[in-house]
Amino acid sequence: MTQRRLSLFGATGSVGQSTLDLVRRDGETWRVTVLTANSDVAELAKLAMEFRPDVAVIADAARLSDLQAALTDTGIDVAAGADALVEAAQRPTDLVMAAIVGTAGLAPTMAALAAGYDVALANKEALVSAGELMTAVARTSGATILPVDSEHNAIFQCLAGGRIDQVRRIILTASGGPFRTMSAADMARVTPAQAVAHPNWSMGAKISVDSATMMNKGLELIEAHHLFPVGLDRIEILVHPQSVIHSLVEYVDCSTLAQLGSPDMRIPIASALAWPDRMATPCAPLDLATIARLDFEAPDEVRFPATALCRAAIAAGGARPAQLNAANEVAVAAFLAGHISFPAIVDTVRRVIDAAEPAAPSSLQDIFSVDAASRAAAQHFVDQFEHA
Ligand code: NAD
Ligand code: MG
Repeated sequence: MTQRRLSLFGATGSVGQSTLDLVRRDGETWRVTVLTANSDVAELAKLAMEFRPDVAVIADAARLSDLQAALTDTGIDVAAGADALVEAAQRPTDLVMAAIVGTAGLAPTMAALAAGYDVALANKEALVSAGELMTAVARTSGATILPVDSEHNAIFQCLAGGRIDQVRRIILTASGGPFRTMSAADMARVTPAQAVAHPNWSMGAKISVDSATMMNKGLELIEAHHLFPVGLDRIEILVHPQSVIHSLVEYVDCSTLAQLGSPDMRIPIASALAWPDRMATPCAPLDLATIARLDFEAPDEVRFPATALCRAAIAAGGARPAQLNAANEVAVAAFLAGHISFPAIVDTVRRVIDAAEPAAPSSLQDIFSVDAASRAAAQHFVDQFEHA
């Protein structure tokens, strides 16, 4: 295999580290050209020393001099701030891994797609808030979006078995999160530590809380709608607590294809990195005899109202998904900081949606405006909850 350049956005995160674990094992194939992080200079510098990218970018502009000091005389370019992320995304590459969390990843991801680079997309919030723009830009430039989210990666793989116009249903599986069987009354008292302790997956804090509220599955419904345009009413959610079947595609002939694997993000990451080829991973092969049984249940939208909120937001379209996503980011951060209760996360999102209906966006700038207004509104409700 010829050497391939990889630009990695969000190198210090859970997906970023899993990506580097695979790259490290397959150093012949990969040349890392870009590494970025939010504020952890020490970790970014350590990774830069190991992988020797052309440029290392720290998003927090106040940390530029620290990064410069850490990487003096290494020949590695150093940059900081949001514009530097966009510039780094425009550097020639063979694949961009978009693994920043939240809409902070939107601008660099759009820049990479506009430049025509294939993007392995983990950063679901970017697609949720700007799905139409993002898929349109990719269509125009010819860039391919390779889904990294395990469910979407599963669907992408299953879609190799037929044409998209022959799909009758997409079944998005959900673990149900750590509170799947908990009563609403008990959920009112859960702590951030309980919420981030996912039963099957080890992930960053924000997505772990989203899994606990099931907002993650709602965001994934929106993500699936943009990636696989089969019609919203053809995308269903199925709770499957073991996270072994990562999603299913049912075709018109009633043949249903599923993708299975151990709950290890390195499997979908490897699939995106190597596509359309395959690469070896050190992951545990599936041992179905030991797993012995797979369970399924319908989602409970009374205890977990987030998925219905998301379905309504994408059905309404326009700026609704961007508004919902931004409100959720603020509410999750407030919950993690101990400012609001667990049920107040989804309540905050609902209040923000009920309080204002933003005009349909026609540009990335419009999306950023909606995002900012929604964050301010969410902060207002968070403050009310906190002082209630
Ligand atoms: P994480 O919190 O572990 O890492 C996030 C990365 O983004 C870090 O490198 C951090 O430095 C960077 N970052 C954070 N805020 C930033 C900002 N304002 N500007 C620039 N960079 C910033 O998150 P994660 O779990 O790796 O998730 C990353 C993305 O992948 C998320 O969108 C998540 O939903 C998605 N995803 C993650 C998993 C998983 O298993 N972790 C699975 C599916 C999808
Ligand atoms: Mg997922």
